[in-house]
Amino acid sequence: MVDIKEYIKSEKKKLKDAIDKAAPTKGRHPALGIIKVGINEASNRYVRNKAKDCNEVGIDTIIESLDDSACDEDLLNKMYQMNNDDKIDAYIVQMPLPHHINPYMVNAHIIPTKDADGFTNTPFANPATPYGIIDYLNENQYRFCNKNALVIGRSDIVGKPMAKALIERNCNVTVMHSKTSDENRIRAIQNADLIICAAGVPGLIKTTDFTERAKCDTIVFDVGINFDSNGKLIGDCEKDLPVAYQTPVPGGVGLLTRLRLLKNVVNLYLIDDSAKAHKMTNKEWLKEERK
Ligand code: NAP
Repeated sequence: MVDIKEYIKSEKKKLKDAIDKAAPTKGRHPALGIIKVGINEASNRYVRNKAKDCNEVGIDTIIESLDDSACDEDLLNKMYQMNNDDKIDAYIVQMPLPHHINPYMVNAHIIPTKDADGFTNTPFANPATPYGIIDYLNENQYRFCNKNALVIGRSDIVGKPMAKALIERNCNVTVMHSKTSDENRIRAIQNADLIICAAGVPGLIKTTDFTERAKCDTIVFDVGINFDSNGKLIGDCEKDLPVAYQTPVPGGVGLLTRLRLLKNVVNLYLIDDSAKAHKMTNKEWLKEERK
């Protein structure tokens, strides 16, 4: 498999070139809005990384911070401003949100032509983690057809869109979740060509899950982000599984996700402005929300 860091470097160069080419006609560089709610160390780190990535390729960032006491309506108002700001091509609401804010509201109200995370999954922007993985497999000329793919986790932002993307590429997909027994999971691991593990459970996939029956050409994408007792970042899989390739944590799926976010922003910047014409007044927006 192509070295992930080298791949990211070369893809960022392509994005920078595309922006440099389009900017004189557009009259400006692309801009990504980031809405942050409350004080959360993980969120702050994600935002810093995204702003750094954007800066490298020539995307401007506009960061709006709401304090911990912000309510659903405060967030909706900020989203409304970004939905209607012609100088912002795309935006994200940084997760995790404080518990009192409903995260599902974000997907329901972001305009798809400004959805940098791709959660609304349109032709302009796809969910960043699953499609970061698909892009990287494409880069490696991976042949999806008739591969046994195992997706562990069924969330709306990773597991489900990942499974859908693999089904669309003619994989034979098995999806597992917290109610799956150890026995069934281990059996599926041994039969899988491709494993995407996104459960948020450290040590969920172990070296001992792979017996001599396991295929040695299995590829494993470890999506999980967990911290061990020393505060060290770890994934869902034990290190050095006996497989053909396993993404590292850190330095694996996180980087692929960040790259796909940049691609989504650039796609949204490059699409015809007429596709972005949908706007609502603040009053209409809040009325829609209360229906
Ligand atoms: P999530 O919404 O909490 O979903 C976790 C999924 O894993 C659920 O479907 C859950 O099943 C399933 N699960 C939990 N325990 C399991 C077990 N023992 N066996 C099998 N499945 C189990 O999390 P998410 O947003 O999808 O994220 C998953 C992980 O990936 C987290 O660690 C997150 O931080 C990380 N992540 C990383 C990136 C990146 O860029 N690297 C991006 C996004 C997320 P139920 O549906 O039955 O509850």
